Amino acid sequence: MNKFKKSILMSSIASMAIFNHANAETINLRIMETTDLHTHMIDYDYYKDKQSNKVGLAKVATLLKTARAEVKNSMFFDNGDLLQGNPLGDYVAKKTGLKAGDTHPVYKAMNLLNYDAGNIGNHEFNYGLEFLKNSTDSANFPYTNSNVYVEDGDGDKSNDKNLYPPFLILDRQFKDTDGNNQMVKVGVIGFVPPQIMAWDKANLEGKVYAADIVDSANKYIPIMKSLGADIIIAIPHSGISTATRVSMEANSSAYLSKIPGIDAILFGHSHSFFPSDRFKSFPGANVEKGTLNGVPATMPGFWGSHLGIVDLKLKKTADGWQRAGGTSQIRSIYKTENRKTISLADADPQIVASVKAEHEATIAYMNEKLGTLSAPINSYFALMYDDPSVQIVNNAQIWYVKNALQGTEYDDLPVLSAAAPFKSGGRIGSDYYTSLKAGDIAYKNIADLYVYPNTLHIVKMNGAEIREWLEMSAGQFNQIDPSKSADQELINKNFKSYNFDMIDGISYEIDITKPARYNGKGEVIAAESHRIINIMYNGKPLADDKMFAVATNNYRASGGGKFPGLNGSKTIIQAPDQNRVALANYIFEQKNIDPSADNNWKFAPIGKDVNVIFISSPDGIEFGKALGIQAIGDETEGFTSYRLSLK
Ligand code: MN
Ligand code: MG
Repeated sequence: MNKFKKSILMSSIASMAIFNHANAETINLRIMETTDLHTHMIDYDYYKDKQSNKVGLAKVATLLKTARAEVKNSMFFDNGDLLQGNPLGDYVAKKTGLKAGDTHPVYKAMNLLNYDAGNIGNHEFNYGLEFLKNSTDSANFPYTNSNVYVEDGDGDKSNDKNLYPPFLILDRQFKDTDGNNQMVKVGVIGFVPPQIMAWDKANLEGKVYAADIVDSANKYIPIMKSLGADIIIAIPHSGISTATRVSMEANSSAYLSKIPGIDAILFGHSHSFFPSDRFKSFPGANVEKGTLNGVPATMPGFWGSHLGIVDLKLKKTADGWQRAGGTSQIRSIYKTENRKTISLADADPQIVASVKAEHEATIAYMNEKLGTLSAPINSYFALMYDDPSVQIVNNAQIWYVKNALQGTEYDDLPVLSAAAPFKSGGRIGSDYYTSLKAGDIAYKNIADLYVYPNTLHIVKMNGAEIREWLEMSAGQFNQIDPSKSADQELINKNFKSYNFDMIDGISYEIDITKPARYNGKGEVIAAESHRIINIMYNGKPLADDKMFAVATNNYRASGGGKFPGLNGSKTIIQAPDQNRVALANYIFEQKNIDPSADNNWKFAPIGKDVNVIFISSPDGIEFGKALGIQAIGDETEGFTSYRLSLK
């Protein structure tokens, strides 16, 4: 073959190849997410002081390595709520502090994992702006947030600067399906609930302000496109809601899925799981494919429970690379079988080692003094008397809610608080009680006072509804026959003590000679019976139509325990904090705590001498004496029998 012919042949092969390529240029890109880690770097529950198979970036890191190895091209993002949420976060923020130049321990871990970028969550603002800046300055990856601006005070919003870069355009080289290198401009845009201005008012007022999430997307996405972004990944720290959009919603991710230009959504904030059956009937959701209105989307749980994965197919067009399909999934670090938690991922030893010093210091910090108790707290007789172990929770919740309602439309509602004794023996055993001595109270004791990781919810209810709430609680007691002189069992053992809500801010009596008004399903079974009597607010009988804001938890507010009227519809505020975080912050703030119960409820006088009996811990014998409760003998399984004489 002569030189000329060879060159024609070569060029025709080359042009054929180019022609074929034009049809086939495809990139498979895997995009992964962590969200709502809340300082859970390793597999440890500091409240229980033991290893946990249900939390920890160290375990997610193992899933990440596997998921990365499965593909040629991947990126990795964090969606925020990173710096606060377990005692490690408080240890750094409140004990050691963080100076400019210091590396926050979360980044000692995360900087090992090649994150491409991060987004700011609402909890990032909990410890103030300087702490936030010093923290994110120690990340080895960039941050973005598009809807928080620095307040410059000149009254002109047009020149306001974003607190963080409103978006990023990351140049990335990927391998296409033919094995060729391709450059792609990946746009990344972050969002936070504008509610930060209420939730962290003290840290933020006058310093920054927040804009609506959808408005911010509409503002920046065209700019990102004009700067050449081939694809755009949205990272909203925001859940999804079926409500019609007005403006300034906290949960705006479903609205974002309808904005042209967004190719993938890595969302979070609501500590839920997408795709999952929870969202089967959510409008626009396809939980088999993992899309929201056609856009691949993922929300990988909380505390390092899951890795979120979006698999995008990109095709080259005249306008650059475009999404030509995509799916999503979540991968869990554990599964539950027969009520047992089974680990699905080992903790990555490098991540564990990276925060070893801070982890050990946090365990020590849990034992340090947080404040002082002027009286002991125990729950041995929490079902018989207004009790300090419940009172301190209610006091903390009232303190928290009064702050939370400031400047909202609910500002002038009087605040009540509901709480129940969590640790009160029962089936868990005779040592399952809270018992704290007067004197120093440590951080670890928070877990004795509030066992469950509930979040604080506020419901709006009137006097009549609150009365029914308490009627349901009063199902804790058997009906007592005033004509009997023999001992009578006081406690209805089928009624869980965590459903014995006591409401502070009002006073009332419980008439246990009447039958229970409700059964355990929240159905009225004795329509004529009212056990809750003499219910008073501010020294006057409680009016049926008087409105209140009542602090409770997500479990109760959304229908847990089947309380009358409580089905989620009364919830006015889903606070961003756990009840036990509110309690810890209350003790941090007050330092000296008087936990004495205010005796706002008691058994109504019976008019006859009646003896009731029940079981509790033998450790309560001395405390019982002071309350007129007499120990009468040993019971099975380590319990002691007690007798209380009522009149
Ligand atoms: Mn969160
Ligand atoms: Mg009380």
